[in-house]
Amino acid sequence: MKRDIHPKYYPEAEITCACGKAWKIGGTLEKAEIEICSACHPFYTGQEKLLDTAGRVEKFKAKKAKAEATPKKTKKARVKKPAAEKAVKPRPKTATRAKPAAKPKTPKK
Ligand SMILES: [Zn+2]
Repeated sequence: MKRDIHPKYYPEAEITCACGKAWKIGGTLEKAEIEICSACHPFYTGQEKLLDTAGRVEKFKAKKAKAEATPKKTKKARVKKPAAEKAVKPRPKTATRAKPAAKPKTPKK
């Protein structure tokens, strides 16, 4: 190992989860607080749980309720153009790129 480049190692670092579970592992942080762990993650518990620290779920629900309360805007019925108008129009002239003239060959010496 190279000297003086490694962080301090704590063989008994304490990890605490927001759900209350705590355990000790080896790590470079003396203490760490985490939001989710295997004791409370829905993948392991099989129960639905919303982690909502910023109130985003409430915000979304309020937005959804508001959207449901207000009637949706109805789309304007599209008016079909008469078939005559749809008739083939002459194509606009596209500028044809002229081929560059072949370079005159310089005689080899
Ligand atoms: Zn947890």
